[in-house]
Amino acid sequence: MKSKVFFASAHASSPEESYLEKIPKILKRSGFLASIGEGSRVAVKIHPGERGNLTYIRPAVASRVVRELTARGFAPFVTETTTLYCRQRFTARDLKKTAALNGFTSDALGCLFLIADEEPDLPVRIDGDVLESVKVASRIASADALLVLTHVTLHLWTAGLAASIKQLGMGCTGRRTKFEIHRATTIITDEERCDGCGSCAEICKSNAVELIHGKAFRTEKCSRCGVCIGACLNEALSATHDYRTFMKGLAEAASGVMRKFAPGRALFLNFLTDITWHCDCEDFSDVPVFPDIGLVASSDPVAADAACARMINSALPVSGSRAGSEEIIAAKDKIKALSGIDWHLQLEFGEKVGLGSKSYVFEEI
Ligand code: SF4
Ligand code: SF4
Repeated sequence: MKSKVFFASAHASSPEESYLEKIPKILKRSGFLASIGEGSRVAVKIHPGERGNLTYIRPAVASRVVRELTARGFAPFVTETTTLYCRQRFTARDLKKTAALNGFTSDALGCLFLIADEEPDLPVRIDGDVLESVKVASRIASADALLVLTHVTLHLWTAGLAASIKQLGMGCTGRRTKFEIHRATTIITDEERCDGCGSCAEICKSNAVELIHGKAFRTEKCSRCGVCIGACLNEALSATHDYRTFMKGLAEAASGVMRKFAPGRALFLNFLTDITWHCDCEDFSDVPVFPDIGLVASSDPVAADAACARMINSALPVSGSRAGSEEIIAAKDKIKALSGIDWHLQLEFGEKVGLGSKSYVFEEI
């Protein structure tokens, strides 16, 4: 059966048509509000941006969502998990500070901002090819309903496209599951180039580097986050990825999270604005590679991502951006041409594990 995907354009010429005011309309049209009971605790999952990143979803957008949920008698809280990589969201304390710096305070949001994986994760057994069980972040797993706000970007590290499936599989799970999915990456040290300077050990918050006889070696603790690669001025570090295994793991993890919610109790809002070639985990923001398109809503994360990818691939890249070359403009699959990654795999595996369907009915509001 085809899933429903709702779309609201980013264009506006009056306050009534503004992007913010399209949020309550698309929430209502999606049917999500009608399928959760009064007083339900709704986990509003966001990515508050890495420190230094400026293209994450604005707090005003999350606040508009919270205001609508509160007005309808629900009890929302905004939430995010800590990261596996070694930047400024690595611990709960880091994450709270970074989120506050980027504007995600309880005052601004109109509800609590909670760290989703501060308490022990709740496992869901799935017996997948990559994951035996999925460790769902406890505050997400114990909510009555889930509303995932995703800033859609390209992802040149492992996924090609970062949208709902990635937010679910990586963003809603605990460190153990993130670690297991990232096993598909291998960090390689070129011993000829390594002079034992120790910069990689200094930047690694997982304490996963050992210096032995003047050379750096990664230990079992290494989460394959890749942050040390940029810190090595000798270019001694590189990575290879088994994209297929990574995306299968991502889809399996996403399906595990969805098993915590009854049908109709999870909704995905994908924001096609400030579409950068990198995700919001980067500690910088380049200019967007595609123009603002709009807002997509669906209870099916596979359908939501398929619709977003179709609209990105149909858009004219921004002149002067990374996607502004003749080769990318002419490409049918601009996401693949730019990322070099077969991003479709996450949708295909998503279908196989019962997460959703790539077939959808599209309705503009
Ligand atoms: S930063 Fe590079 S050169 Fe320095 S120890 Fe690490 S791998 Fe070796
Ligand atoms: S050694 Fe490098 S890739 Fe591994 S966890 Fe540390 S920073 Fe990340």
